[in-house]
Amino acid sequence: MTRVATPGDGVRVAFVGAGPGEADLITLRGAQRLQTADVVLFDSLADPALRQLAPNARWIDVGKRGFTGVAHAPRGGGRENTGQDTINALLVKHALSGAKVVRLKGGDPSVFGRLEEELEALAAAGIECEVVPGVTAALAAAAATQRPLTRRGAGRSIALTTAMTHAGELIAGRHADTESFYMAGKQLAALSRRLVASGWRPDTPALVVSRAGWSDQIASEHAVGTLGDATVLHSGRPTVVTVGVGARAVAAAHEHGDAARAAQAGATGTAAAAVSSEARSSVGTSTP
Ligand code: SAH
Repeated sequence: MTRVATPGDGVRVAFVGAGPGEADLITLRGAQRLQTADVVLFDSLADPALRQLAPNARWIDVGKRGFTGVAHAPRGGGRENTGQDTINALLVKHALSGAKVVRLKGGDPSVFGRLEEELEALAAAGIECEVVPGVTAALAAAAATQRPLTRRGAGRSIALTTAMTHAGELIAGRHADTESFYMAGKQLAALSRRLVASGWRPDTPALVVSRAGWSDQIASEHAVGTLGDATVLHSGRPTVVTVGVGARAVAAAHEHGDAARAAQAGATGTAAAAVSSEARSSVGTSTP
């Protein structure tokens, strides 16, 4: 049996999930690790306001993505992408120098965050580290649009999926009742075709949310077969696509009342159909 260590005093590097957007979505533990950091290696997707938590630390931008709309990582803004090997080397170098290092990652470090490579690099150098979780984009999108990812009786499983292979190929299947796709924002039409080909019905609810957790977030509602319609609206922004049961709007409160009354009158089937058709048309774009 392998025992996984809990962090002790020897911890030199903390991987911290910054959350999906604005600074107050970080965890208290993550904020505390920033406050005691000497060096912070951060990603493009983290909120620049987090710097206020560690004003005296050395902040090093190792962002690799370059989305527009992120203040310190404009598209084509002249900063070269930092290769993974360079990030690994920087982590090891600063930790060995005796500095307390925070590796700040957008969302949650364990979700599409190249955490494996960085943990391996530190382990190879004998450096102790810890991982502080964060709110991943799919959860922020669910919260922002008030669409629970699990539904009693209908949605029992969730998959977090990237549609892109590391070779840059788009693949998609059907793995859960609710499936959230990361890194597919530039290829929504292709994603739509792949999803239909792999068994999702074209009229399955699909929700597209970009910049979830930020004040300029955009959410739009589609069906799996018409996902391509969202391309222009979300262009150039980090985007998560949720399909299946968890993409469906919940019934509005007054509709619940109507449904309950109708059920009492013995007409439940008709009321339920009205709820679902109204709920489908209720969301266009939204900001918090
Ligand atoms: N570790 C991150 C994911 C990094 S991969 C997390 O847990 O959220 C980068 C992808 O995450 C983007 O291509 C996009 O699909 C998604 N993403 C990150 N931040 C997002 C946000 N605020 N809104 C919507 N999608 C986001």
